[in-house]
Formats: sequence, C-alpha cells, structure tokens
Amino acid sequence: MDKIPSFQKNHDTLAVGLHAQTDANGITTFDLRLKKPNAGDYISPKALHTIEHLMATVLRNSAAKENIVYFGPMGCRTGFYLLTLRMDYAQVLALLKDSIPVALSLDEVPGSRREECGNYLEHDLAGAKKELAAYLAVLENL
Ligand SMILES: [Zn+2]
Repeated sequence: MDKIPSFQKNHDTLAVGLHAQTDANGITTFDLRLKKPNAGDYISPKALHTIEHLMATVLRNSAAKENIVYFGPMGCRTGFYLLTLRMDYAQVLALLKDSIPVALSLDEVPGSRREECGNYLEHDLAGAKKELAAYLAVLENL
C-alpha cells in the first residue's frame, strides 16, 4: 500500500506549531501540533476529547464557518487536524488566534450531554483549557 502523506512527514523533526500539510480535492489539511512527537508528553484522552468539542463548536460558529470541513484529534494525541476550504496559512493562523480565546471563555463543554456524545463522561475542561492556552502562546510566537 502507498504510504499516506501524514506518514511521510519526519516526526523526529516535526515541531510544535501550525503546519499546512496537504491539498487534495480543494481541501487543505492543517496540522495543529500541540506536542513534540515521541517526546513522552501527550494530551490526555479526556483533554483531547474536550478540545475536539470546544474547537469544533467555536470554529463552526466563527466567521469562517463555511470554510471549515473538519476538526478532530490525532490518534497519537500530539495534535489535531483542521480541514478547510479556500483558506491559506495566514487566514487559518488568524482564525485560531481568534477562536482559542473564545474556547477558553466557555464554562461548559458543548455537546457533552449523554445524548449528544459517544463518551460523555470522558471530558476534562480544565485540562483542555490548559493545553489550548499553551498552544495559543505557541501560535502568538509564529
Ligand atoms: Zn464527544
């Protein structure tokens, strides 16, 4: 089988930050890397899940909502993928800098009632905010 683009990246040199990864079918995949790969520090499963709920909700309520295809976690728990339509790197960076503070202002996890989520008890809002705040500081320095 072909090695897919996300496995062709050298994870030993992949830095924490924001990376535009691939363009396919008019969709650009952005790699939001919160943790250095294989460095022993990973986003907890609960925080990962909560960040998914927070950021998917905020991005889909943003001015760019028509351009958001998908937001979701990497299985390795070092970051997230954001798939967009017709957005360049600078636009996505600005969107994230605007959206993370909105996520940090929420005092409950959107969509976390039993009927809304497949694992509604697996959330950690405080842990998610800690990870997002640290990532926002990374983005401010890009
Ligand atoms: Zn869920």
